[in-house]
Amino acid sequence: MKKKMITIDGSEGEGGGQMVRNSCALSLVTGEPFRISNIRARRSKPGLMRQHVTAVEAACVISGSECSGLAVGSSELEFRPGRVTAGEYRCAVGTAGSTGLVLQTVLMPLVLADGPSRLILEGGTHNMLAPPFDFIERTFLPVINRMGPHVSARIVLHGFYPRGGGRIEVDIIPAPLAPIDCIERGEPLGVAGQAVYTGLPVEIAERMLARVQRDLGAWPEDAFSVRELPADQGPGIILMLEARYANVNEVVSGFGQLGVPAERLAKTCAARMNGYIEASAFAGPYLADQLVLPFALAGGGSLSTVKPSQHMLTAIDIARRFTRRRIELTRQGGGEHFLTVG
Ligand code: ATP
Repeated sequence: MKKKMITIDGSEGEGGGQMVRNSCALSLVTGEPFRISNIRARRSKPGLMRQHVTAVEAACVISGSECSGLAVGSSELEFRPGRVTAGEYRCAVGTAGSTGLVLQTVLMPLVLADGPSRLILEGGTHNMLAPPFDFIERTFLPVINRMGPHVSARIVLHGFYPRGGGRIEVDIIPAPLAPIDCIERGEPLGVAGQAVYTGLPVEIAERMLARVQRDLGAWPEDAFSVRELPADQGPGIILMLEARYANVNEVVSGFGQLGVPAERLAKTCAARMNGYIEASAFAGPYLADQLVLPFALAGGGSLSTVKPSQHMLTAIDIARRFTRRRIELTRQGGGEHFLTVG
């Protein structure tokens, strides 16, 4: 007997591509088919973009799922999940489409598959509006690994917008996801700020660091460094600020953009890092929205976070529909919020 489709209005909530990616991941794990309409309806270029199509294709490739409506510009998609098969998969996102967002789509299904997998993902590794590789490696994956699986990621080549050409490799040893509590950061262990660049004058990197150094007054001078990549990986520049605690690392990024002065980018990045440090919640806004899926699939656990983003609220809504679990977000004093699944 055919299962009843879950129907999703893609223009609700945050209304972005993450609804499509999370729905695919949840569908593969729960076996629930879905139809999503009005995809990215309120975005300036509505419908699926190349990188969303690639992410859904990757979900189909690892599982033999059936999908109709999968094309650039499409505003409706129907997805009937197949069975996820562990293995080695290669996926080229095309131009500088984000490898991190493809990973977001297939990671949980492969973490819960019946054997180890290796992913080779080619495209952008440090794109605006997507998790940069360093965030995935040092902020996101350590939490996933605490839940049971063992996932390790390497960057082989950096890929910046618009050229792309990056490559990451991810090894996945699956395990059931155990519920965990992510409430306390633990004691502070250190801080670091690095500007990684290529194909641009070093002064741009130095100006960024000078500005963050000024704004992060308490950070020691030797916490800051510049790293130049081989010229064939650029041009591009990214500023990454990292605060390490016993239980969590936060990586805040500033992506170089043509026409945006280095100082302005650095100022925003430092302000976001200062905001995180001054708060006491475990997860910053990006980690929080990305942990909704694994926590929902673990069927339990708790997480403290700074003010929830629209992405997080939408991720919760989608996860509730596929898993039918109680996923609650409550506000405590001091602006901290608690996610509980049970
Ligand atoms: P849209 O439909 O809006 O164009 P999209 O498909 O490109 O969206 P979003 O739906 O906005 O992507 O999802 C972006 C994802 O990238 C979110 O999970 C968010 O947490 C993550 N992300 C964005 N910026 C960062 C960052 N600087 N660091 C870590 N993660 C980030």
